[in-house]
Amino acid sequence: MINKDLGSAVHIVQMIIAKVLKSGGTAVDATAGNGNDTLFLAQTVGSEGRVYAFDIQEKALKTTRKLLERHNAARQVTLLNTGHEGLDKSVPVPVDAVVFNLGYLPGGDHALVTRPDTTIGALKSAIGLLRQGGRIGMVIYTGHPGGAEELYAVEQFTSGLEGSEFNVIKISYLNRSAQAPVIIVIEKAGAPHESQAA
Ligand code: SAM
Repeated sequence: MINKDLGSAVHIVQMIIAKVLKSGGTAVDATAGNGNDTLFLAQTVGSEGRVYAFDIQEKALKTTRKLLERHNAARQVTLLNTGHEGLDKSVPVPVDAVVFNLGYLPGGDHALVTRPDTTIGALKSAIGLLRQGGRIGMVIYTGHPGGAEELYAVEQFTSGLEGSEFNVIKISYLNRSAQAPVIIVIEKAGAPHESQAA
């Protein structure tokens, strides 16, 4: 279930993703962590859908598995203990949605953070998997060492995507500290909008 307030960047991304991810769909959590996004994706696609969740830390995937099991949502999830940069090798085309929550595992080792080069590699792979109208939602933190550089790398890469093929938006909190999370969403253009499709 989605909490529909704007106070959380994670919730905003979930609302944006929920518009294009339906029961029976396919999604990727590129950074499983403690499993909150994986659970959201698994509950959204339901038992007929599939979610591929990546993390380099076994500890993170254990926590994610437990959370999924508690909510009876583990069946539709494939957990992958590997870097997201090669995600196109494990995930079939096409996918409806991909979520990234960058930075370090909350409560975990702060040295095991996502990094600009692997994040951009994963982003390129994810874009290649996306169906028309599919979306990639990213929550990006800048309060830790390397975070600002990672945001810069994502902004540089995504702002270079062809405007006729992709819609790219950035959302940031204007009334919070400079370290507040930033959201970037990439939509592969081409599918009619709901209001136009009827
Ligand atoms: N969405 C998660 C949640 O709900 O708890 C939080 C994700 S946490 C901010 C970032 C995660 O990315 C960490 O668990 C970290 O181990 C993982 N990570 C770092 N580099 C990675 C990589 N190259 N591939 C996949 N996961 C990676």
